[in-house]
Amino acid sequence: MFSAFSLNDRLLKSIDKIGFREPTPVQAQVIPLAIAGKDLLVSAETGSGKTAAFLLPTLHRLLIREAPLSGTRVLILAPTRELARQILKHFKQLSGFTHLQAALVSGGHDFKYQRALFRKNPEVIIATPGRLVEHISQGTPDFNDLEVLIIDEADRMLDMGFSEDMATIVNQCNDARQTLLFSATLGHKGIQGIASRLLTKPVSVSLSSAKTPHSDISQQIILADHVRHKEHLLAWLLAHETYEKALVFSNTRAQADRLGGFIRYHKQKAAVLHGEMDQKERNRVMDLFRRGHVNILIATDVAARGLDVQGVDLVINFEMARSGDDYVHRIGRTGRAGRQGLAISLISSPEWNLMASIERYLKVKFERRSISELTGAYKGPKKLKSSGKAAGSKKKKLVKKAAAKAGTKKKPAKASKDHRPNQAGPKKRRPATDAARDGFAPLKRRKNPDENT
Ligand code: AMP
Repeated sequence: MFSAFSLNDRLLKSIDKIGFREPTPVQAQVIPLAIAGKDLLVSAETGSGKTAAFLLPTLHRLLIREAPLSGTRVLILAPTRELARQILKHFKQLSGFTHLQAALVSGGHDFKYQRALFRKNPEVIIATPGRLVEHISQGTPDFNDLEVLIIDEADRMLDMGFSEDMATIVNQCNDARQTLLFSATLGHKGIQGIASRLLTKPVSVSLSSAKTPHSDISQQIILADHVRHKEHLLAWLLAHETYEKALVFSNTRAQADRLGGFIRYHKQKAAVLHGEMDQKERNRVMDLFRRGHVNILIATDVAARGLDVQGVDLVINFEMARSGDDYVHRIGRTGRAGRQGLAISLISSPEWNLMASIERYLKVKFERRSISELTGAYKGPKKLKSSGKAAGSKKKKLVKKAAAKAGTKKKPAKASKDHRPNQAGPKKRRPATDAARDGFAPLKRRKNPDENT
């Protein structure tokens, strides 16, 4: 029961109104520790209820001690605009019976308007790092009175190249603050580093790592011969599965756009969300999906980050996610807060090893499924290594290497249908230009602040 936390009555009233009955495990652990003023390092997956876990104790703190004359009291940093918007939405729900105000400071919105928001001196600022640093460079924000700093999805933040921006922001913050750091995984390379810099005597809360997807999500794979075959499978699944809302993931913006057209051609209502859409358009698409005017959303990973939509019960990976963590983020969109979900990945031959390595990484075995009227020729590798990967690929590589050493140039193999450029092969390197094309953040490289912030 939430009442056991002795949260402020106005917050309990909101919780009741929203309809939360029991705290989720992350809320049960985080809320009392945060109320006690501890710095926290929390690993919690998307969909675990982490947003309310940091908002409730923070709002409680603001309510039990009024401070009308202080500057910003709480700063919440999120890696993407979408996530920042979700946090603001949660804030509004939870603070509905209070006077507390929050302002959203993220890319894609008018800069001058945001400067005016700072002047209104809301208690809470929810920001993406790139845009906030721009405001800091103009001397607008005042974080000298800051009481709580919250960093959400810190691992994503590092992946997106925001570590320098984070350092700039933290330099502006009151040292006496409480800091709550949330990350999908604590195993991420840079997390321990920023934790030791930002947190004071932190308590670590590790419920389930990103490696543990919800147990209430069924995870399946269906083998596919090529892109065309995948399209048939996709159309079949969207027509035959029972779902309220479906999310289809593609690795590139171009593919997402193409699939949008394809699904609409099959007379289904679909919308596309990718990182290069302007904020207005993204909001419009999200609104259509949330309200159920379209029940299929095709998205790239960056675009879908932080997406929180009720009723998503089917996730289809048209192309396999590029890493285990990305896979978990994708399927975390379904089976949220106790709902049953289904995640299906369409796997073609070049994706087999990637799929096998994700199985190994997550210590799961995806259920093999086939659709009788659409079974293809590809049945998986003939021989498997103990890792589950295809046997023989390394040998071929060695032969190739030896041939190259001996100066015998092998004729490049003719591109088969399976190796079309928009398919994600496990060993394929993306050209640098892809980062701009598909809305993905280049790893460890500083992003243009206007892009996805
Ligand atoms: P989050 O992990 O913060 O993105 O939350 C995932 C979803 O769970 C959101 O839709 C929340 O509204 C919902 N949620 C959070 N806490 C609870 C709760 N205690 N009971 C039911 N749903 C919840």
